[in-house]
Amino acid sequence: MSKTVIIDAGHGGADSGASGFGVQEKEWALKISLYQYERLKELGAQVYMTRQSDHSLNHMQRVSKIKDQYDVCLSNHWNAFNGAARGVETIYSVRAQPAFAEDLARRLVSATGLPLRRAFSREIKKGVDYYFMHRLTGRTETVIIEYGFIDNREDHQLYLNEDVFTAAAEAVIEGVCSKVNILYQSPAARVKTAKSVNAADGGDKGSTPVLINQPHSGVCPDTYIGRRLRSVHEGKLRFYSKPSWQDKDVYGYLNKGLGFPVVMEKIPVGRGEQYKVRNSRGQIFYVTASSRFVELI
Ligand SMILES: [Zn+2]
Repeated sequence: MSKTVIIDAGHGGADSGASGFGVQEKEWALKISLYQYERLKELGAQVYMTRQSDHSLNHMQRVSKIKDQYDVCLSNHWNAFNGAARGVETIYSVRAQPAFAEDLARRLVSATGLPLRRAFSREIKKGVDYYFMHRLTGRTETVIIEYGFIDNREDHQLYLNEDVFTAAAEAVIEGVCSKVNILYQSPAARVKTAKSVNAADGGDKGSTPVLINQPHSGVCPDTYIGRRLRSVHEGKLRFYSKPSWQDKDVYGYLNKGLGFPVVMEKIPVGRGEQYKVRNSRGQIFYVTASSRFVELI
């Protein structure tokens, strides 16, 4: 019997994820996930998804669909940062071997011609994963895939090309097939390789993967979970006892430089967004997520 796979389309519903050039991360995450789901089914895998439409899943709802129930989970994302950063990243659990994530990154780079940033894992403290998708999904081997930077013009342009988009999806499918011992077959002539796309562009982007060794600094929202928040506001910055902007819900004030040790989630509140944060005693508060007032470190 073939092993089972679950595909997690990152974000969804009220959580649109990162964005760039008029595209929201949740749209591309769902699009590539649905494609991979259909193809893996066609290839004979037992495959499932965390969401098949544009709806919200909080962290607990998402991980409860995954934890300990599958051999492999692909969590599909696009990054965003400053418009200049670009390339592919894959992230594996501190409890896993890097091989699968490294293999997926290599395949993606060769299929799309995007630069490789890195395959890595990250911990909050010794042995504890930084990303909830690893921390809370148990024995399922979860790899977070950041296909590129949605706010980088070159990365974005590449993924607007349907052939490249499909080649990226296929590259990951082929990696999954190899991981779970399913025979991979390409979808006949439907997929051109990115090499031919690049050649048609007159470029040679596909030839040599370039390692851009920058720290992971994207704001694909899963990357802020677990980070420390501090106020960069000159005055006193309000924080709230519930998701609200109202005076009556103000719990206290932060001076510049002070903050909270753990960001748990970013949520839409009214026309803005707030971080749900936890203090060192485990109390939960809400504070603006605007980068004019707070920074994550
Ligand atoms: Zn994301």
